[in-house]
Amino acid sequence: MQKKFKKVLVANRGEIAIRIFRACSELGIRTVGIYSNEDKNSLFRTKADESYLVGKDKGPIEAYLSIDEIINLALKKGVDAIHPGYGFLAESPEFARKCEEVGIEFIGPTYDMMQNLGDKIKSKKVASSVGVPTIPGIEEKVHSEEDAIKFANYCGYPVMLKAAAGGGGRGMRAVRDEKDLIREYYSAKNEAKKAFGVDDIFIEKYLEKPKHIEVQILGDKYGNIVHLYERDCSIQRRHQKVIEYTPAFSITEELRQRICNDAVKIAKAVNYRGAGTVEFLLDKYGNHYFIEVNPRIQVEHTVSEMVTGIDIVQSQILIAEGYSLDSKEIGIKGQESVEPRGYAIQCRVTTEDPLNNFSPDTGTIDIYRTGSGFGIRLDGGTGFAGATISPYYDSLLVKVTAWSRTFEDAVRKANRALREIKIRGVKTNVPFLINVLNHEDFLSGKCDTGFITYNPELFE
Ligand code: ADP
Repeated sequence: MQKKFKKVLVANRGEIAIRIFRACSELGIRTVGIYSNEDKNSLFRTKADESYLVGKDKGPIEAYLSIDEIINLALKKGVDAIHPGYGFLAESPEFARKCEEVGIEFIGPTYDMMQNLGDKIKSKKVASSVGVPTIPGIEEKVHSEEDAIKFANYCGYPVMLKAAAGGGGRGMRAVRDEKDLIREYYSAKNEAKKAFGVDDIFIEKYLEKPKHIEVQILGDKYGNIVHLYERDCSIQRRHQKVIEYTPAFSITEELRQRICNDAVKIAKAVNYRGAGTVEFLLDKYGNHYFIEVNPRIQVEHTVSEMVTGIDIVQSQILIAEGYSLDSKEIGIKGQESVEPRGYAIQCRVTTEDPLNNFSPDTGTIDIYRTGSGFGIRLDGGTGFAGATISPYYDSLLVKVTAWSRTFEDAVRKANRALREIKIRGVKTNVPFLINVLNHEDFLSGKCDTGFITYNPELFE
């Protein structure tokens, strides 16, 4: 059964809101945007067909978390479906359930899937149950300091303390000995409580300098699941991604297939629906370990779109409308029909100062010029001359994605597009990104998650 949406509300802001508005427009769907007091003058809201202020008496973040207000607005405006984007309410089972209750389609997995996958302890159990390797550890939450010590001794130092609800690298601490552990245990718990409202912590082995490889998944409402191959997201600072690319050409074809198949196994285990990502870490011996599922669209989805030609955001909407993957509208006729071509690299241009520990910069942009040309895709929408960059939100300004038939040329194109950027008034990480692209370890595909920490010359 299909239901064509006439109106979709996007419960998000910035570049991802615009990305979703575009997909809706292409599908002939009218768009409804929301914005906070702080975003009154932000460009993204003018890109929706209609947009409304939410959280008038709330803070800048809370505005986008106002579940009841957003749902009431959607009902009042005759909205058929809500797309949550990433962050904010994207992984809130409560939001998904409330949408369902009032008959509004939530563009994402169901309440039950989110319950199982959003929590890292539960999702590790799902992975283990279908024989996918997970990072050695204890798949239970830590109840006390004594528990923490016991679990860490069982894993053997170094260990990673992790928030079960974690995201964006928050509530995560690598600890090397018991003294570290006792100190960091409470600090990780506090950080998790602040960021996610729950402070459940678990412990697993800390892997030294792993690679981060993740697999894009799409599933429809009829149990069909495909993967759109992998992305290498090892270039990170503070456990957050900076540059992502596909394919992960430094791993063997056999390992690549094994990782993609394991991702599908996990998605099948929960009958996954919509777009999602299954993340793995790879140690230096070529062992891969599941770490988590992100049941939503991700910032780096662009690179998979460029090589497969599949519009992931449109697919999310069509899946929610009830189309099967092999329908004429989505057009994915089985796994064999997903044929990646060439190489794509995404660079996240942020208003951050790499020389000052990547702290976010704020102010008014005086000059805003971006690069373009053959092989370059830009996903932005918050930057223009006169725009104010506030301290309230994520510092992502524009995503520069380069595509080419060879990795070397994709790097050349990304480099060239970054050099064409001229932004004045706020500091950006553009010079830093260029240094990464020109580093020989990056070019050889060797980078692991320690790359930025261990290469101080990137900051010169
Ligand atoms: P989040 O949900 O906060 O993004 P993830 O579990 O996805 O957290 O991990 C983010 C990053 O943290 C990984 O890509 C990796 O760099 C690092 N990381 C996570 N778990 C481990 C581990 N056990 N050992 C070493 N690094 C890890």
